[in-house]
Amino acid sequence: MTAADSATEDRWFTEQHLRSGSAFGLRVKERLHAETTPYQTIEIYDTTDWGHLMVIDGCTMVSTRDNFLYHEMMSHPALFTHARAKRVVIIGGGDCGTLREVLRHEEVEHAVQVEIDERVTRLAEQYFPELCEANGDPRAELLFIDGIRYMADAEPESIDVVIVDSTDPVGPAEGLFNAEFYASCFKALRPSGILVQQSESPLVHLELIKSMRSAMRVAGFHAVRTLGFPQPIYPTGWWSCTMARKGADLSGFRERGAQTKQFPTRYYNAEIHKAALAQPNFLRDALGD
Ligand code: SAM
Repeated sequence: MTAADSATEDRWFTEQHLRSGSAFGLRVKERLHAETTPYQTIEIYDTTDWGHLMVIDGCTMVSTRDNFLYHEMMSHPALFTHARAKRVVIIGGGDCGTLREVLRHEEVEHAVQVEIDERVTRLAEQYFPELCEANGDPRAELLFIDGIRYMADAEPESIDVVIVDSTDPVGPAEGLFNAEFYASCFKALRPSGILVQQSESPLVHLELIKSMRSAMRVAGFHAVRTLGFPQPIYPTGWWSCTMARKGADLSGFRERGAQTKQFPTRYYNAEIHKAALAQPNFLRDALGD
């Protein structure tokens, strides 16, 4: 080990996750930016091995190296389940990675990203330009307002897919995890429309996942499925999204479309989609899928 190696080894960003008694750290070269907005504290780090890292309120959000896992799984399972999603709304998602994945689907005619904090997007443009490369697509619309309000005011039966790419259920995101919000989504979705929401770690947030799923059913959704995927920079390294569908089930998807898709993905493919629909026994027991 050289002296330089030893010096950099002393500098880590560490997120302690008290609920699971665990911590995740990335070795960093320097903190590039820090600010407090009206909504949250945002930091950007340059890491030694993971590219840039965005942290909100002390929680890791996005790294250059592993964000594809999350962004692809928040988008493609829902879009390859829907027969033809023309209008998509993303709530949160200010780093723009989900928007980029959604716009890879040529059937999408309009995608709105509704992010409460404009600074997240401005910093993503600066430090994660590859995630923002679809922002100039004529089908994209970027709004900087509260997603809860946006969905409450949305025209009934006007949207095919709603993707809730939010922070944890505290602060501005708290109201994105309850039956009232899901009822707004239900009303705004067209028949067979799909809601998909990031639903934290199956290993430590099982009670949250259960309460989200039951609130989705209370709101009227017919089918609910929770899909797992790896996500190294989030607590436990294992994450999930929960899909809910209006008036149709979620067991099948456009498998042939996923196999012959005309755009690149690094994680998602038809086999991954099928595998993500499978449940380990403890989740089967807990969720009844
Ligand atoms: N991938 C991340 C994760 O699961 O930790 C989420 C990343 S994305 C940056 C989350 C975004 O949700 C944040 O930029 C935050 O400002 C936004 N957000 C939180 N509450 C919101 C709300 N009520 N309306 C719109 N955006 C919201």
